[in-house]
Amino acid sequence: MSTATGHHQVAFLDLQALHREMHEELTAAAAAVIGSDRVLLGPRLTAFEASWAAQVGAREAVGVGSGLDALVLALRALGVGPGAEVVVPSHTFVATWLAVLHLGAVPVAVDVESATGTWDPAAVAAAVGPRTRALLPVHMYGHPVDLAPLLDIADRHGLVLVDDAAQAHGARTRGVPVGADGHATAWSFYPGKNLGALGDGGAVTTSDTDVAARVRSLRNYGSRVKYVHDEVGYNSRLDELQAALLEVKLRHLAVHQARRVAVAAAYADGLADCDLELPVVPVGTEPAWHLYVVRTPHRDALQQHLAARGVQTLVHYPVPCHRQPAFAGTPLARQHLPVADALAAQVLSLPMGPHLSATDRDTVIDAVRSFRP
Ligand SMILES: *Cc1c(COP(=O)(O)O)cnc(C)c1O
Repeated sequence: MSTATGHHQVAFLDLQALHREMHEELTAAAAAVIGSDRVLLGPRLTAFEASWAAQVGAREAVGVGSGLDALVLALRALGVGPGAEVVVPSHTFVATWLAVLHLGAVPVAVDVESATGTWDPAAVAAAVGPRTRALLPVHMYGHPVDLAPLLDIADRHGLVLVDDAAQAHGARTRGVPVGADGHATAWSFYPGKNLGALGDGGAVTTSDTDVAARVRSLRNYGSRVKYVHDEVGYNSRLDELQAALLEVKLRHLAVHQARRVAVAAAYADGLADCDLELPVVPVGTEPAWHLYVVRTPHRDALQQHLAARGVQTLVHYPVPCHRQPAFAGTPLARQHLPVADALAAQVLSLPMGPHLSATDRDTVIDAVRSFRP
């Protein structure tokens, strides 16, 4: 795309372009739902749940209304309730913390490591106390967290581990996909995620059939038998229309993932000698590349420089969780989380997605390279 300024425009993410690629398949899937007698809890949801479970290597997947709900229902199904403490990362999307708060539980933030933006397991172990019930790691930006040391901590202290994989569709550690290692994994199918619905959606994956059954009940008013309510449940179902559309989009995920990997490789190569911190990829990990996040103390100037050259960027996220207005005046706001503060001030997400052409990639690289703080 070009504009009056003469610069080739690079969109951060172009969902319309992706949907154009699969327009006929999506339209056919939607038409089938419109013509069917089931629009909730029907065969398309069952089929997508089986596909998603197989994709991540878990025994079961349970479709729910959003990623936030997936976190809430997974934690609750594993016994997290009022007064429990849940260890969360300092640097994440606010939904991770909100899920804990919605259960009347307390998020206990552990600051992330400066270089990688992920947890030091020793710091997590140090945060575990008598009221701790769960660990809630986040595969931030699509970088898979190695769950092995965290599962050791959970085992030692009798905790459950729920991982937030909202940004990690397709990520792998030592060849194993995210989604089957924790006691339960929460997924979002928000449209902008690597696997996105055309509306809201989410899922819980788990290999514990009791946990899966409990999430199935919780998402449907706490009911296993119609009009009999065993517990105080929710209305949070992934509908047939979204399930049918997700099934179509899942067929394209591997190809789209390969394109993200190619974009990340081009950026890593083209920006290697720039005065920027690029994403760190530990040996044995395959990020989902939901986002490609660079770090610089000159973030705002770099963002303006790129905008002037037609390159759209975003900040994930400009306000750290502990500084959100919603928590003002609460103990959550009084935490000392210097790395989270630094990241909020310094991170910048470059355009990332399967829509980017080789020209787009070069435009981004040239624009970043021409920046002088
Ligand atoms: C998107 C996201 C969520 C919430 O997902 P929704 O489907 O928007 O509710 C939770 N955690 C993280 C890390 C996310 O990026």
